[in-house]
Amino acid sequence: MIVLQKTVLFGSIASFMRGAVAVVTASVVGIIQTGNAFAQSSSVPIVRDAEIEALVTDYAAPIIKTAGLGKQSIKIVLVNSPSFNAFVDGRRIFINTGALLEAETPNEIIGVLAHETGHLAGGHQFKLREQLAAAKTMAVVAGLLGIGAAIAGAASKQSGLAQAGGGIAMGAPEAAMRNLLNYQRTEEVAADRSAITYLANTGQSAKGMLTTFERFSNALSLTGTRVDPYRISHPMPRERIANLETLARGSPNFDKKDSPALQQRHDLMRGKIAAYTAGGARVLQTFRKDPTNIGARYGDAIATFLNGSTESALSKINALIKQQPKNPYFEEIRGEILLKQSKLDQAAKAFQRASDLDPRKSSLIRMNYGRTLMLTGKPDNLKIAVSELKASIGRDRESPTGYAYLAQAYGQLGDAARSDLASAEEKYYSGKIQDAQIFAIRAQRALQKGSPEWIQAQDIINAKRGKSK
Ligand SMILES: [Zn+2]
Repeated sequence: MIVLQKTVLFGSIASFMRGAVAVVTASVVGIIQTGNAFAQSSSVPIVRDAEIEALVTDYAAPIIKTAGLGKQSIKIVLVNSPSFNAFVDGRRIFINTGALLEAETPNEIIGVLAHETGHLAGGHQFKLREQLAAAKTMAVVAGLLGIGAAIAGAASKQSGLAQAGGGIAMGAPEAAMRNLLNYQRTEEVAADRSAITYLANTGQSAKGMLTTFERFSNALSLTGTRVDPYRISHPMPRERIANLETLARGSPNFDKKDSPALQQRHDLMRGKIAAYTAGGARVLQTFRKDPTNIGARYGDAIATFLNGSTESALSKINALIKQQPKNPYFEEIRGEILLKQSKLDQAAKAFQRASDLDPRKSSLIRMNYGRTLMLTGKPDNLKIAVSELKASIGRDRESPTGYAYLAQAYGQLGDAARSDLASAEEKYYSGKIQDAQIFAIRAQRALQKGSPEWIQAQDIINAKRGKSK
């Protein structure tokens, strides 16, 4: 049985970032975003993308393994936000697309992931840290609004934690606040030390982590109204940076560079994120030092597609495919473009090829393949669509979108009961339990009592709102 906890992703597909990058909304209790500083719980916009997920997982996997967390199936979750942030919660590492776009090298992200893994392995109490971040965010927001400038000043200085603590007490007893801040400082130092160890164990440099943390330490002024949550949750007093630098420089790997292949995947990812989140101008800006970089060309192809110039986008992606014929993600984008042009058979072939080339067999690419076959409406294709969509769901059981397409495919095949059952799952994983139960009851009428599918429907009928099934 799948256990749906409060912190499990509740998804619903949003309308922007269509296609290869789909956006779902996750309700995550206790995570406070800058724009929502006063809420105890808020939702984090989650972004799904086969290419980015694969890359960040490759960054994190060796670190997670050496931290002794390899058997816990730590999940990487991409947060669709332009600010710089990374945080952990139980078994998940969240990282903002903004952080991925900002980091010029894989090593910078790997360093941040190593630090966050240090928090995970240390069993640090992320809730406490979030409360602290919230208190400081409130102070900063108050400052931006022109209220309590003294409070904001103390909070954004970040030079002395105790000093900040005095300013952000917000009615909390001062001693308790000081305890919290001491606790946080201990955790941060521990996470830094763990990170250094993980990087050393995996033969990687800690330079990227140092570069990132130094950036937060130096930039005291806030850029416009944007506050990077990472800066707020990670006070970087000079002493901490100095300690980190000594440790980092002590490693024989300090000057070791990321492999050219990894750097290239990183560049491709940055091009994609720039195109999807901010368009062609951002692609140009990201690669201003290296305009012929393959990441720039990839970003340009995607931005061109998103602008609606599908013919031009197609020739740009075809040129990239010529250069890297085995790149599954180029084929995936090609599929997206052909789909937009309503060339369904060609699009299906592109997704099929992308799925075949994809070493990770991402559920997302498979879902696109199944969906495109379903859209052709041809009876033979519909049957393959059902099996592809089922395979996709098998790898990603909590995807409401996969179930929505499966419901459509069964509907076109005239199998109303299985269509209703898929709709019930879709509603269930969208957090609409009541709607899910209506579909499940309807599905059961035509299913054989006691069959696996009947039981699947019964599980939904038995589910309590917000509880596990
Ligand atoms: Zn930390």
